[in-house]
Parts: sequence; structure tokens; C-alpha cells
Amino acid sequence: LLSVRDLSVAFGQGERTTRVVDHVSFDIARGETLALVGESGSGKSVTALSILKLLQYPSASHPSGQVLFNGEDLLAMDEREIRKVRGNDITMVFQEPMSSLNPLHTVEKQIAEILFLHRGMGGPAARARVIELLTEVGIPEPETRLGSYPHQLSGGQRQRVMIAMALANEPQLLIADEPTTALDVTVQAQILKLLKDLQRRLGMAMLFITHDLGIVRKIADRVCVMNHGKIVEAGTTADVFAAPTHAYTRALMAAQP
Ligand code: ATP
Ligand code: MG
Repeated sequence: LLSVRDLSVAFGQGERTTRVVDHVSFDIARGETLALVGESGSGKSVTALSILKLLQYPSASHPSGQVLFNGEDLLAMDEREIRKVRGNDITMVFQEPMSSLNPLHTVEKQIAEILFLHRGMGGPAARARVIELLTEVGIPEPETRLGSYPHQLSGGQRQRVMIAMALANEPQLLIADEPTTALDVTVQAQILKLLKDLQRRLGMAMLFITHDLGIVRKIADRVCVMNHGKIVEAGTTADVFAAPTHAYTRALMAAQP
């Protein structure tokens, strides 16, 4: 489904250039969950944002390499083409839901907007679909939440609304960048279970970014370990946990509580 080939990204200019993603390659098959793990600053988010060409230029160099999605190179697409992929075939959820929620729009409006933009869906059909999506992500009595603004929701509810937005178009791939880090442990577990259930049901693939190996174990089929912009270890979750080959992976595991 997705094949990232030799992806590199640098920040800065001239002598101050630092390569924060360094010849990264990995594949994600249909329906599969790949976890990208590594400590803070290792380049996970930059990798995720590069896939959808969401980095801010010119502070970042344009990514080099290839990001093949169903055989088409996303990095070679112009803004109009990539916009169709984003929010439709590949969607993303972030650590902080407010970064994708508009504080001035109601829950209904944010989700309906996506349905309208990508599906041309409006009116009662859109409202029914919004209610269906909110139900799917576990918002109780969704009808009563349609008119709520993001600040009127709890952190966990906001995260659920963001997931509903990401799922509105039944994407083939969901990129989740630390989607549970800001939540307390109970809610974290609920959201993880929700993502896993939805993924199974929709047959969706997932790139799951986290620094938490406990989560990797629960959710991922395969894992890539990233350190200083490079993938230092890759394998099935079972293999990597049973016999990590790289010293960095062993150090990460030793550091887990
Ligand atoms: P975390 O677990 O804390 O989210 P991460 O692995 O996602 O970390 P990235 O956000 O990908 O890390 O950052 C990788 C490196 O790129 C960091 O050293 C960071 O300082 C640098 N970086 C990220 N964005 C920019 C930017 N806009 N300008 C300059 N450097 C940046
Ligand atoms: Mg990050």
C-alpha cells in the first residue's frame, strides 16, 4: 500500500543544515499496523508529515526519496493532487486534537465539512453520517453533541471527534502521531482499543507513531525503531521484542517502566 523509499529531510541552510530524517525506508501492507518508535527528537513526526507533504517550507528542505502510495509517488504530486489524497485516502490524527479541530466550529460542522469537500455530501444525509461516525467512535448520545464546540468537550472526546474526522472518508491508511499521549491512562486504553477495532472493521492500514513500547506491543504487527533520523531496527513486533538486535532498541526496552 505504502512504500517509503530513501526518505530524507533536512532543516536549516548552508553549514547549519541538519538531516533529521536520514534515508528512511519502510513498507506498509494493506490492513497492517506499523509502529514507528523512538525517543523524542528522533524524526518520527517529520517522517509522518513528509509523507503527506505537510512540512513547512522553506525551513525544511523538500523531502528527497520516494513515497509510493498504490504505486504513485506522493512527493512528486502538486498541491492540488496531494490535497485529494489527504483527508481522503490517507488521513492523520495528532497528539493534540486542537491542532486539527477548529475552535470556532461545532462538532457537526467540522465533520460535515469533510464530507462535503471530499464526498459532495450535504443536508440530512451528511447529518446522519456525522451521527453514525460519532457513534462509531464512542461518543454517547451523539445527537446532543452536534452543536458542541471543541472547548466544551473533554480531552478524550476531542480525540474521538478527531478520529471521527479522520475516518469520515474511510481512508486506506491512517497515520496516528502519538494520538494518546495527552490523555490519562484509562482514556488512552479506550482510544487504543477504538483505533484497533475500527482498523479491523475497515481493513485500514495504520502507521502508529509512539515512544511507548507497551503500546507497540498491543497494537502493531511490525515495528521500525528510529534513532537520530535513521531506522536502526525493523521486524515483526514479536521478533523485535523477543530478540532486539540493535543496542538502541535494547536501551529503549530497558528504559521502559
Ligand atoms: P517527539 O517524540 O518529541 O514528537 P519526534 O521523533 O517526532 O519527537 P520530530 O518532531 O520528527 O521528532 O523532530 C526531529 C528533529 O527535527 C528534531 O531534532 C527537531 O528539533 C527537528 N525539527 C522539527 N521541526 C523543525 C523545524 N520546523 N525547524 C527546524 N528543526 C525542526
Ligand atoms: Mg513527534
